[in-house]
This record gives sequence, C-alpha cells and structure tokens, in this order.
Amino acid sequence: MPQDPYSWIESSLATIHKANWYRSVQTIDGRPGATVFLAGKEVINFASNDYLGLAGDPRLIQAAITATEKFGTGSTGSRLISGHRELHRELEQAIASWKQTEDAVVFSSGYLANLGAIAALVGKRDLILSDQYNHSSLKNGAVLSGAEFLEYPHCDLAALKTQLSRQRQHYRRSLIITDSVFSMDGDLCPLPALLEIADEYSCMLLIDEAHSTAVLGKTGAGCVEHFHCTGKTLIQIGTLSKALGSLGGYVAGSATLIDYLRNRAPTWIYTTALSPADTAAALAAIKIVQQEPQHLQQLWRNVNYFKKLIAEQLPHLKLLPTESPILCLQLASAAEALRIGKQLRSQGIFAPAIRPPTVPTSRIRISVMATHESAHIEKLVSVLSEIL
Ligand code: PMP
Repeated sequence: MPQDPYSWIESSLATIHKANWYRSVQTIDGRPGATVFLAGKEVINFASNDYLGLAGDPRLIQAAITATEKFGTGSTGSRLISGHRELHRELEQAIASWKQTEDAVVFSSGYLANLGAIAALVGKRDLILSDQYNHSSLKNGAVLSGAEFLEYPHCDLAALKTQLSRQRQHYRRSLIITDSVFSMDGDLCPLPALLEIADEYSCMLLIDEAHSTAVLGKTGAGCVEHFHCTGKTLIQIGTLSKALGSLGGYVAGSATLIDYLRNRAPTWIYTTALSPADTAAALAAIKIVQQEPQHLQQLWRNVNYFKKLIAEQLPHLKLLPTESPILCLQLASAAEALRIGKQLRSQGIFAPAIRPPTVPTSRIRISVMATHESAHIEKLVSVLSEIL
C-alpha cells in the first residue's frame, strides 16, 4: 500500500494544538463597531483595526451602495485590461494629495501592495534589510523578490548600519523595509533616523503605514506626517482596510515610481482591480478623515484615557511601550494568554490572545477605537484589575 501523502497534515495540526498555537475564527454578527455580537452576546470590541469606527459609518455604506448600483459588484478584470474605472483614479489622486506625493496606485489589499512593490523594486542581485518585527507581507514580499534578505534586530539602527557597511557594496540596489507602527507591539519605527541611514548608504526606504494611516499625523496622513518627513523621497505603502474602514492597499510616492509599479508589480498587473464598492468606500473615508478631524482627536483622547487609567489602577501591569492605539499586555506563555483572553471574553470584553508564531512572546492585543465610550474603557480596566 502506498503511504498517504497527506497524512503529515494531521500530525502537523496535532503539533500546533499541543503548543497552544491552534487558531480558529470567531463569527461576528451585524455591523462592526465599538461593541459587536459574538456568538449572540454583545461584547466590547478591542480586537478591531477599524480605529476610527468608519467601517460601519452610514456614509461609507451609502458610497459602496451607490458605486455598486452604478458600476456593478465586480470590476471584471485587471486594471490594465477591463477593470479600470475613473473611481480608481479619483481614489489614487485623493491618496496622493493627502500624503503629498506625486502619485499613488491602489492594490486589492495591503498585503498585495507590499508583495507587489517589493518584488518589483528588487531582485536577485539586490539586498533587503528588514526590521525583525515587520509584518508577514513585507517578509513574504522579500521572499518573492528573490533578493538577499537580512533582518536587523527590532529598531536597532546600530545593527542596521553595521549590516549595511559590511554588505551594501556587494549588491546592485538596496531596500530597507519597515512597518511604521509595528502591528503586534504598537511601537513606532524611528523614521527620521532610517531616512538618514538610507541616504548615507544609498538605499531605497519602504515604510508600511498600515496601522498609521488615518491614525498618526495632524491630518491623519500617517507616520511620515507625524515625523514631519512629508516630501522626502521614500516609498509609502498602506492599507484601506484598517482605519479607512474599507478594503484594499496603496503605494504612494513619486510619479516615476508609481508609473514603474503599474508596469512591473505582479500583484497589481495580474489581479482583478479593487471592487467599485471598496473603492468608493475608501474614497468616502478619506474625505471624512480630512473634513472631520474630531474622529482622530477622539481616538487619541481614548488612547490617553486608557493609558491614564492603567497608570492609576494597574501601575505594575506589563504593557509594551506604545505610541499608537495598539496596546499589548505581555504574558508568560501562550496558555496564559489564552486563559486571559477567555476570561476577558466571559466578562464581555473581546481582546484577542496573540501567540507565536505571529509574535515571539504571547500577549493580549488591545486596539482602542475613536468610537469607544469612556465606560467601555473603564470596564476594560476594571475587568483587567479583577483578572490580574
Ligand atoms: N501590513 C501590516 C503592518 C498589517 O498589519 C497588515 C494587516 N494585518 C497588512 C500590511 C496587510 O493589509 P491588508 O489587510 O489590507 O491586506
């Protein structure tokens, strides 16, 4: 009897279970918001990337309905064949104007934007330097590109410089890649120093603004705006699916860069264009963020309120240092993270346990939203005090 070639899958799953790394989906009912229905029970939602609460905003919903009625559900083809609509250009121009770049191009997700841009920018004769805590899409973009891939310890600029001084001259092109806000820690990359290093070693610099778009900077334009680096030459990537409440990704930068990506990024050329509904919803979200700064202001008021309550009531709590609405409670093991996640849930709080291999050490990840009420934040802190 030949051996079953698929039998390894079952034993791999058993290993995942044994390590407490098994993941499963949670079904959310109804519209997204500061509270959601999980298994029929209303819980306070600290698990969402919808930082401004726009994913359930009636104006985004209406924009998606209107675009669907006008243009249909699917965009029917890739942008270069039959999928391009004027709406896509409107969104790209809105992103470029907000980010103060010459142009922008939208992808069908942030993941695809990272994969496609990195694969287009570097190849076998090139070098990528990547922060160790970068998102999976940046790391897999590096794999797809075939370039030599070196990781530097998290935000360790001395180590990055050492690697560059040893390696840079052996490669044709070099690309530094970094998250802006690190998605599972909540801290911020040292952008001004990275720009200086990129300049010194003649490297391109790509920043992933997934968790900072519509979150950081005076107008919400992101980490680049936060650090007053607007106008500097770099490659700005982001997603339309977190604070902008829609779906999709973008790259913003010089007109030449964007023109090049339209000709070389495989995840843009060979995939179906962003749907009319997602495009219109993202466009509506950008307008709201620009015209109604109160959402961004409320988000930061909520983040600061949470930090203040923690400092007063749980001063010994091990929160990772953060400069964003992502606040992580460090825990000793995956089992403990799961236990605390479950206890929170039983008390009406939804905040997920994040475990290896997603992160090196287990934690509870708390995402604050602009639409949380003070009472939501107070309840979280009081439940944490009880449990811990
Ligand atoms: N980059 C980072 C840092 C992310 O956290 C994510 C999503 N988790 C992505 C990229 C991918 O974005 P999208 O969900 O739009 O594919």
